[in-house]
Order: sequence, then C-alpha cells, then structure tokens
Amino acid sequence: MKIAVDIDGVLADQVSAVLLEIEKDYGQKYSKSEINRAHWNFAGIEIWTEISRLLADPEYVMRVPLIEGSQKAIKQLAGHDLLVVTARRPNAEEATRKWLCWHFPCLTQYYHARTGTKHNIPSDVLIDDLDMNIVEFVKSDPDRRGILFQHPWSLNDTDIEDYSDQVYYCPQWQSVVNAIDNIRGDQP
Ligand SMILES: [Mg+2]
Repeated sequence: MKIAVDIDGVLADQVSAVLLEIEKDYGQKYSKSEINRAHWNFAGIEIWTEISRLLADPEYVMRVPLIEGSQKAIKQLAGHDLLVVTARRPNAEEATRKWLCWHFPCLTQYYHARTGTKHNIPSDVLIDDLDMNIVEFVKSDPDRRGILFQHPWSLNDTDIEDYSDQVYYCPQWQSVVNAIDNIRGDQP
C-alpha cells in the first residue's frame, strides 16, 4: 500500500516551534490549544506567513521537534511504500531532506504538493493534519483513504463529514498505525 505522510503537524511539531519563535520575536506567548484553525493569526500576522519566513532558515528547519510517537510509528509502517508529502516551499527542501534523513532515514521519497493540488499525490492513503487536504485527496477517488491527524487547527469548516466512509480521525500516532492496519484489512 502506498502511504503519503505530511510533514508539518504529522512528523514535525511545526506549531510548537513557531510559537517559540513568536514568543522570542514578538513577546507574545500562545499555546497550541489556542491555534484553532489553519489560518490562525496573531497581531495581524498569519501563522503560515510566519512559518514560511522561518523555514527559509536551514537552522530553524533543523530545530523543529518531532511529533510524539512519529519515529516509532514510521518504523512500524516501514513495510509499506512511504512517501513524504509537503507544501513547504522549494527553498526549504534541502534542509527538510536533511531533517528527514536525520530523524527518519527510511523516508527517502519526497513529493512537493501545495494545498489545492493534493489530489495529484500518487498514493492510496494520505496522513495529514488539515481537513481541506484530506477532502481534496479522498474526493478524487472513492478507493482512497484519508487519515486526519487531529490537532486543534485540523477542522476548518470543510465538508469532510460527507466522506466519513473514507476518513479516519486520529489524535495520535498509535491510532494512525491502527487505522492503517484497518485499511489494509479492508483491501481485496
Ligand atoms: Mg500539515
């Protein structure tokens, strides 16, 4: 089974990293639970603008911590055909590949896909932390399955509920591994 794995919010704890930088640069302290939508903003600055700016710095990229349980789970899933998929800009690719090689040496397939192009991802399953990406992916093919890695910002008023037979909701990595076992069990 071919499985696409998003980086930010799934492998990399991007929000924790950016909140530290926001505290350092703007003196404003926020917690992850306050980030309640994808386009969250503070003092008129959108979080994605801030993340894109920071990702241009390779040292920042290397500092981003792991999502809990991700290394163990990726090892458990190593028998599948795993593909890393990200909307990070091309200027962050070199450092991102280094970060991946350091933390997940078995993840060598890299695919760049902006939001709006997630239907093109060449895989059977997508693990992603944003509902719009999951919807785009599953609506393009009824045989595809989406795993929403749930964070406070994962649901953004999409019609994800309409695809409930294709979508799994997972708040942590162990439930992602269970969902994949489940999907594999359903396959002919
Ligand atoms: Mg993400």
